[in-house]
Amino acid sequence: MSEIASQLALVRKSLPAGVTLVAVSKTHPAELIREAYDAGQRIFGESRPQELREKYDALPRDIEWHMIGHLQTNKVKYIAPFVALIHSVDSARLVEAIQTQAAKCGRVIDILLEIHVAEEETKSGWEPGELRTYLAADPFAQLPNLRVRGVMGIATNTDDASVVRRDFETLKGLFEELRPRFGATFDTLSMGMSHDYPLAVACGATMVRVGSLIFGERDYSK
Ligand SMILES: *Cc1c(COP(=O)(O)O)cnc(C)c1O
Repeated sequence: MSEIASQLALVRKSLPAGVTLVAVSKTHPAELIREAYDAGQRIFGESRPQELREKYDALPRDIEWHMIGHLQTNKVKYIAPFVALIHSVDSARLVEAIQTQAAKCGRVIDILLEIHVAEEETKSGWEPGELRTYLAADPFAQLPNLRVRGVMGIATNTDDASVVRRDFETLKGLFEELRPRFGATFDTLSMGMSHDYPLAVACGATMVRVGSLIFGERDYSK
């Protein structure tokens, strides 16, 4: 068994039924994604639109590609024809850009609303209050090519488990708060990465995004 296959098996075994694994393959070449694919993984997450597009072109068509990184409005067009889920929707402008591109492709695109919960200023996402204000006008009633599936977030990067737990609980709280507004298809709470996904699952994650634990450390210099 390859290293990737055995790491993948390990992560899978640690997830309860009902929690979806997104294998985060950003920066890694198509050959390594192929190894995970051959080990049965079908859902992959990427953070750059052009890289995502190239990998989509190079790899089997039954892969479900998720966009998890910050997305600029002018790059939505690269992924709109095929992307399965956009986790990182963090502004009204981006919502509108995705609607426009989805309509052009004749698709309904699934999205998650990214919420900013971490202590770091730099991380993206809606502040909870800002999101409530935005949603008060019911913008999605006018956006037929978008389907809001849930919420995504990144916890504070710290060894202090109580802080990480607090962040995950905030995300879970918002997920529950917004659920009645969107109905039964609002079923996805995307939180947890390599170093904190077990805690995310304990706090109610339905989807985890795990990269380095499966593929090894990333080398951004390449
Ligand atoms: C890179 C990334 C991940 C995966 O991180 P690992 O620590 O490698 O598991 C998860 N979520 C987002 C948004 C990312 O950008």
